[in-house]
Amino acid sequence: MASLSLTVMINKEKTKVLFAEASSDFINVLLSFLTLPLGKIVTILQKHEGSELGSLTTLYKGLSELDTAHFSVPGAKEMLLNPRSSFQPEYRQLPIDVTDTAPLLQYFLCEDVNCSQPSYDNISMYSDIAVCDCGGSLTRRIGIKDECRDGGEAFVVSPLFFIVTDDLRVVPIVSGIVQALSDLGITDTRGAEMKSLSLGPYEIGELLKLSLTSATPLTDMVMKSNNKCPQSEVWLDHIHQHDAPTESNKIVIRAFLHESTNKFLFAEASDEFVELLSSFLAIPLGGVEFLLAGNTPFKNIDNLYRSVSNGIDDKHFTTSDTKNRLVSPKLAHGYLPKNQFLPLSEEGPPKLFYQATRKGLRYNYSSHEKEVTIDMVSSFKSSKEVYIKKQTMCFVSDDLTMSPSLTSRISILNDGGIPLSEMKETEFHIGLNEALCILKASLTSKTALTDGLIKPLLKRQPKKERC
Ligand SMILES: [Zn+2]
Repeated sequence: MASLSLTVMINKEKTKVLFAEASSDFINVLLSFLTLPLGKIVTILQKHEGSELGSLTTLYKGLSELDTAHFSVPGAKEMLLNPRSSFQPEYRQLPIDVTDTAPLLQYFLCEDVNCSQPSYDNISMYSDIAVCDCGGSLTRRIGIKDECRDGGEAFVVSPLFFIVTDDLRVVPIVSGIVQALSDLGITDTRGAEMKSLSLGPYEIGELLKLSLTSATPLTDMVMKSNNKCPQSEVWLDHIHQHDAPTESNKIVIRAFLHESTNKFLFAEASDEFVELLSSFLAIPLGGVEFLLAGNTPFKNIDNLYRSVSNGIDDKHFTTSDTKNRLVSPKLAHGYLPKNQFLPLSEEGPPKLFYQATRKGLRYNYSSHEKEVTIDMVSSFKSSKEVYIKKQTMCFVSDDLTMSPSLTSRISILNDGGIPLSEMKETEFHIGLNEALCILKASLTSKTALTDGLIKPLLKRQPKKERC
């Protein structure tokens, strides 16, 4: 089984990790955390003693329980619940891939093996999202080996060693370890003791969990201790300027609140709001950093993100574009919602060439080979207008559970002992800043809409009649 070595320095009192010395292999695995879509993190955390990612875990659960018939196309459910990363090719370069991605890149052709339509025009990145020109579903899986990338490194190049602090600040050792430590403010290493660790896939998953929940992830990993992160305020430190108060581009939702406590009970959500919430699952952690200007509830991940943008020189990355792709990551191709108003973009389709050979068709990522008779770049079909069908009337609760049935909402109220007379109805207009507040709250809070939508509003208008 794959394993990674990591050397940690433990203080004299044996109570904490002062720093770790890591090879580029470990750093590549650590940087892969930034590329993980939030929906993927939900599934990784499930394997670690039922850890949860705020309301995103309940959002994920709600969507997984929603009947496939409510999705715009059958494959949309799988797309959301198993979100692809725009770094999928890099994952196969990692010594340990916490996402457990298939060893081959997977694409989908017409279900009919004898289909006469050209497959270069009828290929999809996702199963059951688009149809072939013959009318069949594109569901037949093929795996393609990306030969040009084999043996390379994912994000940073070796041989290079790094210092990693307990709160995941990373600097490369270029002018000696003493300089690197002093750059990080680590000066007192008297009596420190070295310990070598060997980390497997489970430990890396554990480190991901600790990087999201602990104030001292390396210490907690080594000492099996538990120093929980202090809860941070869900308040945007950074208001996006281009969120002009034009009401026209805002999403309107009708919400029901508990009259006396202003707690969010549920909302009748418009298609756009359902789409917005669903799309959270496809945003990579680095994309959350980008959207929240490096100020998320995850301080360790903020540090890691800042190390990429400011701490590691461009020349240490595998390509000239790698740093930029990590700092402002795109969604995987096909994931951008039609009415996306978060300032995100999606990766273009991968270039896939196909060649006719005597044995039939052969797909490849390069067109270098001499024996090529036909050489076409495939045009991908990844179209889906929206994830959820328009006619699906969705009710969204405070923890972002979505459900098509009103009766289940009413039963939640009954369970909570709230009589209808104590409910009030109100309308919210959601623009970019409100959407970002909800996103930020959803990362750690089980009451994402109370914390992300209502609390900031009450804070902003303390004197006005509370809505
Ligand atoms: Zn076909």
